[in-house]
Amino acid sequence: MKILVAVKRVVDYNVKVRAKADGSGVDTANVKMSMNPFDEIAVEEAVRLQEAGAVKEIVAVSLGVPACQDTIRTALAMGADRGILVETDVELQPLAVAKLLKAVVEKEQPNLVILGKQAIDDDANQTGQMLAALLGWPQGAFASKVAVGEGTVNVTREIDGGLETVALKLPAVITTDLRLNEPRFVKLPNIMKAKKKPLDEKTAADYGVDVSPRLEIVKTEEPESRKAGEIVGSVDELVAKLKEAGAV
Ligand code: AMP
Repeated sequence: MKILVAVKRVVDYNVKVRAKADGSGVDTANVKMSMNPFDEIAVEEAVRLQEAGAVKEIVAVSLGVPACQDTIRTALAMGADRGILVETDVELQPLAVAKLLKAVVEKEQPNLVILGKQAIDDDANQTGQMLAALLGWPQGAFASKVAVGEGTVNVTREIDGGLETVALKLPAVITTDLRLNEPRFVKLPNIMKAKKKPLDEKTAADYGVDVSPRLEIVKTEEPESRKAGEIVGSVDELVAKLKEAGAV
């Protein structure tokens, strides 16, 4: 079996993001970038399936600026075998990513594509679903358990009020939820080994896909900062204050 994993380079989850002064987007200058956490879970799942003997090859794909190579190298250090960078300067929206991934899938012919359920920068939660629709493949979104069988995969999904298990025929698309696994720490020797693993560089134009944005970002602004709290001496004082503030 061959697995394709989509890995996105995003602002590190520890960084407090700031809106650009002109409101045109998020300021990413001099900001630490990392692999999208849900994509780490996707890579980890693929590597675990490979360690269990079900998988011959794992291909990590990232779309974006040349620095996405670092994200692919992280996936290679975690255990992916090969990487593909599809380079573009355009800020890709989910539909463009899904179309490019579809083109990569058609070339690579994987049995399974694993993506994160959402990228923590745009929080779109769209790409996996769009990719499955474009390919006409079954999808298991928000996976908290994945069990591969003969030509099938059972995906346990986190849904409102509980868990649902769906049986998908391969090839299929899976998106990962938080509780699927805990990604491993990358060890130094594996980082060194990853440098020698193959990484193909392509451009969006190689796939003949129109990646122009379909949505316009009107404004990006930071949430209002929280006002400082106040310690009150008694319940009566609390009620008086709440009345004063029009809260009760
Ligand atoms: P989104 O729909 O933007 O929330 O992203 C969902 C998932 O799609 C991510 O967790 C990634 O697995 C994948 N994805 C989105 N954008 C990219 C990208 N530029 N390169 C690689 N994978 C991506």
